[in-house]
Amino acid sequence: MTTEQIKDSIAPCGLCCETCFAHVDGDIRRYSVKLKEKLGNFHINAKRFETLLGDPIFKKYAEFKEMLDYFASEACTGCRNEQCKLFKNCGVRGCHQEKQIDFCYQCDEFPCDKTNFDTALYNGWVQINEKIKETGIENFYQKTQGRPRYL
Ligand code: SF4
Ligand code: SF4
Repeated sequence: MTTEQIKDSIAPCGLCCETCFAHVDGDIRRYSVKLKEKLGNFHINAKRFETLLGDPIFKKYAEFKEMLDYFASEACTGCRNEQCKLFKNCGVRGCHQEKQIDFCYQCDEFPCDKTNFDTALYNGWVQINEKIKETGIENFYQKTQGRPRYL
């Protein structure tokens, strides 16, 4: 796996764009589109099932569908290609371009105060980049494979 290939998957901040729910080619979006197809007009039947099967769980279908539609509609091509669709105030994307480095862990200012992350994201960012520094980007990338993005 070359650094160029890894860069397609992992953003400069160290988070994995490939497994983000908003990524156009990510599993979450792909499976959501598929599930929508398979469910078809389930919403029409959900009402009926509520009475027929006597299970109030079907009342919640509209909310579930709203979330599923959202996951299926997201289409980000990743941080290396466009501004993050979720975190519009991210300070890392522009900064790493100016500094001409691939990842924050390579930066002599790391850990800096330019990210605009909240505390949880900031702590995660520091942890991830320290891990990459310690084990190398290839190992880090391998470990992300098959793992859920949201732990
Ligand atoms: S740039 Fe942001 S929205 Fe797009 S895939 Fe990466 S983390 Fe997700
Ligand atoms: S200054 Fe901060 S945000 Fe910018 S590349 Fe360095 S570590 Fe990343």
